[in-house]
Amino acid sequence: VTPIAPHACGGHVKVYVRTRPLLQQEEEQGARSILAVCAANKEVVVDDAHDRPYKFEEVFEESCTQEIVFRKAVAPLVTKVKEGHNATIFAYGQTGSGKTFTMGTNPCSAKEDEGILQRALHTLLDVSETSQPSQDLELRSSQCVTVSFIEIYNKKLFDLLTPTRVPLKTKLGLGGAVSPVAMVEKNVKSIEEGLVLLEKGNSLRSVGATAMNQHSSRSHALIYLTLKNENHCGCLKLVDLAGAESVGRAQTSKLQFEEGVNINKDLLALGKVLSALSNSADSFASYRESILTGVLKDSLTGSSQTALIACVNPASFNTHETINTLRFAEQAR
Ligand code: ADP
Ligand code: MG
Repeated sequence: VTPIAPHACGGHVKVYVRTRPLLQQEEEQGARSILAVCAANKEVVVDDAHDRPYKFEEVFEESCTQEIVFRKAVAPLVTKVKEGHNATIFAYGQTGSGKTFTMGTNPCSAKEDEGILQRALHTLLDVSETSQPSQDLELRSSQCVTVSFIEIYNKKLFDLLTPTRVPLKTKLGLGGAVSPVAMVEKNVKSIEEGLVLLEKGNSLRSVGATAMNQHSSRSHALIYLTLKNENHCGCLKLVDLAGAESVGRAQTSKLQFEEGVNINKDLLALGKVLSALSNSADSFASYRESILTGVLKDSLTGSSQTALIACVNPASFNTHETINTLRFAEQAR
């Protein structure tokens, strides 16, 4: 086997699995946990499924805190962003598996429940917050953090930082890259300012009720945190993906069926791209197959770093979806 230079090859997609505790309501419905985690071996096994173990960069068991997930899976990428590189973090999994909790896309009340978003913002704004007053002015003038928030829904891009819900125009770039035209980018000086902005954006997201009797998100939410100074610019993209459950499981309307088809298409394309990146076949990754991969192309290639956190629901009645998620995640590494 010919060794490949580290900068030229993939291996920059790190794949993690996170399982959450059973919810009270699941326990009441008689669910038990089907997941056996061997954190030391970085493996997870689905009990009773006559399946093999799945191995990852790290498996976060149900007792893992938000702080641990951030420190292990995200903090190294935020450091890269501070140095002027791009990084992308995906939360993948079926509806209810813990994607939004992990990402911190929804506002939360308890400090320890703060997700990746709050912690990343904190780290990116850190320099100006901890600096001495005398240095403050100088730092603030040379460095700034901006926030953008968009959603991909049914093949269209929506800017969640503008009150009118009109699809964004897009521009096609090289190799299938898609860039939104005139996407809003807001300067933020404090975490609070950033979170208020994103919270407003969240209220504009499209939410559809599925027959699983849950309000589940049928769109991908993309938050861009950009750090700029006079020397460089690095962007951290946080992607809270739409639910990965198979279309057809929930009884749906025509529109919901179409949503599901588009979500599946996006996730399939993403899986192929991540897998190609991991297999050092950068050039064979096709970004044209979906708008999701097109929009993210520039942040997945080059010196960019990528992490996928696959969230799994441990309840016994989700065996099928859990195995699908573990297979997707394994393919991506
Ligand atoms: P998704 O975004 O994948 O649909 P959510 O993040 O909304 O799922 O999580 C579903 C439910 O599970 C929420 O009530 C959430 O608070 C809870 N939950 C998710 N992950 C955890 C966790 N690690 N610890 C405790 N509760 C969790
Ligand atoms: Mg969610």
